Amino acid sequence: MNVPLTPTNGGCRTAPILKERGQREVFCGLTGIIWLHRKMQDAFFLVVGSRTCAHLLQSAAGVMIFAEPRFGTAILEEQDLAGMADAHKELDREVARLLERRPDIRQLFLVGSCPSEVIKIDLARAAERLTQVHAPHVRVLNYSGSGIETTFTEGEDACLASMVPILKDTKERELLVVGALPDVVEDQMVSLLTDMGIGPIRLLPARRIDDTTAVGENTVFALVQPFLGDTHAELERRGARHLQAPFPFGDEGTTAWLRVVAAEFGVSEEVFDRVTTAPRARARKAIAQAAEALRGKSVFFFPDSQLEIPLARFLTRECGMTAVEVGSPYIHDALHGPDLDLLPAGPQISEGQDVDKQLDRARAARPDLTVCGLGLANPLEAEGLTTKWAIELVFTPVHFYEQAGDLAGLFSRPVRRKALLQMEAAE
Ligand code: SF4
Repeated sequence: MNVPLTPTNGGCRTAPILKERGQREVFCGLTGIIWLHRKMQDAFFLVVGSRTCAHLLQSAAGVMIFAEPRFGTAILEEQDLAGMADAHKELDREVARLLERRPDIRQLFLVGSCPSEVIKIDLARAAERLTQVHAPHVRVLNYSGSGIETTFTEGEDACLASMVPILKDTKERELLVVGALPDVVEDQMVSLLTDMGIGPIRLLPARRIDDTTAVGENTVFALVQPFLGDTHAELERRGARHLQAPFPFGDEGTTAWLRVVAAEFGVSEEVFDRVTTAPRARARKAIAQAAEALRGKSVFFFPDSQLEIPLARFLTRECGMTAVEVGSPYIHDALHGPDLDLLPAGPQISEGQDVDKQLDRARAARPDLTVCGLGLANPLEAEGLTTKWAIELVFTPVHFYEQAGDLAGLFSRPVRRKALLQMEAAE
């Protein structure tokens, strides 16, 4: 089975990387709870934090439509600082009250945050203690969503990584697909793989704890999100083997991702084509329409979501854009290498951030579209640049064939809007 060719100009895998370690503009890792709590239907995320954390979650979640949301904040007030023993007792009481009221909860995540009083609490020890109290009905895990040390997508990575050590052992040869996808997209993916005869397919995160997700030396795993470096390391520690592939964005990325999995499971070219030809054609058509406004335009990525490299590959190869700079908070060869291979040489690849220097480069380049975090978007718009919020890319279904047109549309909308505004101003 063929995998796609690298670009004739060599790709970006061996391009020099500009490494920057200065002031960063990042968004808090607690944000991941917003999509994870929808995905994991028997989980509850208890943020151990301050009122700021509670406000962030409420505003990021928008209007809560659930009568009983699957996340909350245990607010540590100043007086809790008086003694750590009190803080632990208070946490135990909160958890007991919550679990009594909500028997539907099967997995409880204690999520650390960045206020200094929280950092001092040993949440790993608290999780162990609470697991002993509430097992077997509930397992209690912990991870950090702290805004100090994370980019906003690392919250999901930390959450999934915390689950890997307690996954059941298996000797079965199974495909584990790793990364949270909206249910409708996940169903499409499973159906494509199943139609090729690939299986058993396991998912991390699974929708419910009772699902049979397990891991072992015969497990092969494929990532659907490019920000899962820690989860990748934990899975390899359990003996699973990573299938390196471009990420399933756009027609080409999706086809390349499926090809790598199909090759591993010995799927014939004929079967592969039978399953993928129709959705590929739909994806190409949808991209062609949505990308009209993007052709010949330039794009600049600030590091934010860790989706930057695969998206730059999609925009340059499938939407006719030119990348000026592709910044990513982290570059991990096993995860991002296949997309860097396909990204045509030319853009500055940068890792980490020194925000003032990067802003200077963006101002000098005057790209047609700048993809960046919320904090930078408004000031750059005020300077006349057109921006796209990176965070929208994780809140919108964008993976696999049926979403490829929507993905191109997310980028073309601000460009179209800008063109319309310019036309109106000229009239
Ligand atoms: S974890 Fe830190 S950055 Fe995030 S909302 Fe709480 S206080 Fe703010």
